[in-house]
Amino acid sequence: MAIWDKCVSKKVLIVEDNELNLKLFTDLLRAHQYEVEPLRDGREALDKARSFSPDLIIMDIQMPHVSGLDLIERMQGDAALKPIPVLAVTAYAGKGDEERIMGAGARAYLSKPVPVMQFLAGVQAIIG
Ligand code: MN
Repeated sequence: MAIWDKCVSKKVLIVEDNELNLKLFTDLLRAHQYEVEPLRDGREALDKARSFSPDLIIMDIQMPHVSGLDLIERMQGDAALKPIPVLAVTAYAGKGDEERIMGAGARAYLSKPVPVMQFLAGVQAIIG
């Protein structure tokens, strides 16, 4: 079982409205053997999370139509989505914002611009 687990790519759903950031995160994780589903429209995030069943969700906070913070809060109220860890990525820098994001249920938090190694380390710390 343990050996088989290592052969299966971990699945990551990336929700990020900025096309360049989305491509950067996607390419980086694919280069490290993660199976990645990139998504630009936050309004599709919860449906996509249900159908894709990711091991981790990378969630941008500042998005049009719906904020990542709202999505994280809604996930906490959904039995199927609540167990999926969320790594929040945000341009916010304030201490209060970090507390709000973690309080909403995010597993971890990175501020933009995120250095590549720090981003990878953040992902690996949660799902290996
Ligand atoms: Mn954004």
